[in-house]
Amino acid sequence: MKKALNICVLGGGESGLGAARLAKKLGHTVWLSDRGNLAEKWTTALEVAGIEYESGQHSEERILKSDLIIKSPGIPEKAPLIGKIRAAEIELISEIEWAYRYCKGTIIAITGTNGKTTVTSMVHHLLEKAGKNVALVGNIGKSFAGSLADGTHDYYALEVSSFQLDDIIHFKPHIAILTNITPDHLDRYNYKVEEYAAAKMRIFENQGAEDHLIYCADDELSLQYLKEYSTPSQVWALSQENPVEQGAQLINGKIEIIINQQIDMDINELALQGKHNAYNSMASGVAGRLLNIRKEAIRESLSSFDSIEHRLESVLQIYGIEFINDSKATNVNSTWYALESMQKPTIWIAGGVDKGNDYSQLQKLAKEKIKALICLGTDNSKLHAAFEGSVPLVIDAADMDEAVRMAYKMGEKGDAVLLSPACASFDLFDSYEDRGRQFKHSVRQL
Ligand code: ADP
Repeated sequence: MKKALNICVLGGGESGLGAARLAKKLGHTVWLSDRGNLAEKWTTALEVAGIEYESGQHSEERILKSDLIIKSPGIPEKAPLIGKIRAAEIELISEIEWAYRYCKGTIIAITGTNGKTTVTSMVHHLLEKAGKNVALVGNIGKSFAGSLADGTHDYYALEVSSFQLDDIIHFKPHIAILTNITPDHLDRYNYKVEEYAAAKMRIFENQGAEDHLIYCADDELSLQYLKEYSTPSQVWALSQENPVEQGAQLINGKIEIIINQQIDMDINELALQGKHNAYNSMASGVAGRLLNIRKEAIRESLSSFDSIEHRLESVLQIYGIEFINDSKATNVNSTWYALESMQKPTIWIAGGVDKGNDYSQLQKLAKEKIKALICLGTDNSKLHAAFEGSVPLVIDAADMDEAVRMAYKMGEKGDAVLLSPACASFDLFDSYEDRGRQFKHSVRQL
């Protein structure tokens, strides 16, 4: 090991804990500081790991004496302490940069506004099916650093948010996947979409000619920004609208992955249905081919992938009515894909905390597919105004139980009931997971 450093980790969630555990494992002196009150779950984990911490304050003097500071993605650049660290010229990095420095495995990193968790899980599933030693890390569950503290893998399927890319220096995935870019979290980027996009573009900034970037050529903002940034790596496009030179395309209901040899798959063979999931499967398939995974293994894994909780998750069929949990759809764009993928007359449950939503993008699909809209939020006025003309019935429910019972009453054999809120959850629920679980619980009580 090189010289032992005096390291401070700022922020005590999953990534902070992982970063601190890795630092300790590597023999550095490490402590963790969180300005909020750390939940018992984290303090217990820190104690078990033998890591010193403070909660409810930042002892600035001590922090500013560090050799290296690792910052959790939740802390914004605008926080006053960050300004002081910058002024003191102390090296400040993100948890993924920290983990990257010690990672010897091949990294497949996935970023974008929507579809990160799905693609990361698909890539993991694909490599696992092909018999590779692969870890599933990042935003999705266990942190990248935490995984390295526990042992090593040959491959890492790593989900990265734009916040985690904010403080990278040398981080470089062998394969970068940019799913799409639609405005989200703009509060962290001075309400400028170009700053948000710039953060996402950092996923490939350190790549070289031996590395790869996979992107969606049908996504306007990805196309626009990729033209502005030079890409040092080999670029592979995904399109369902036009032929591509290299990458994956959809032609006459068939997905064609074009890398050396071609792999063809009927779109109906894919385990996850819907236009968005076809993009996700295409991205994973291209990554698999770039890693020399056999055709058969790619086919098999894309046709055997189970849906992930809260993402168009089919919960139950009751008297021919299918209940689908898409609680993770917290913005208009993801709900657009959910509505687009519905093949049955649908009763739609939506609403919650709206981040300045423009519902006009959903009106056409709602008109075609939605029988009734049940609004589940503390303020449903925008939903009423947007859909009263295009959906036959728009009504309010006070809680999840009532929403599910109303939907069941209205439903007929062959219908679907879809929870796809297009909004954040924290007016009535603790989190999108809590919202999705309450939905499933209410469905099972019917
Ligand atoms: P993330 O991890 O980026 O939040 P998820 O994979 O959890 O994304 O999917 C969240 C929601 O986004 C899904 O429920 C689905 O409605 C939508 N979604 C998934 N993949 C895509 C995609 N490729 N393009 C657009 N929307 C998508």
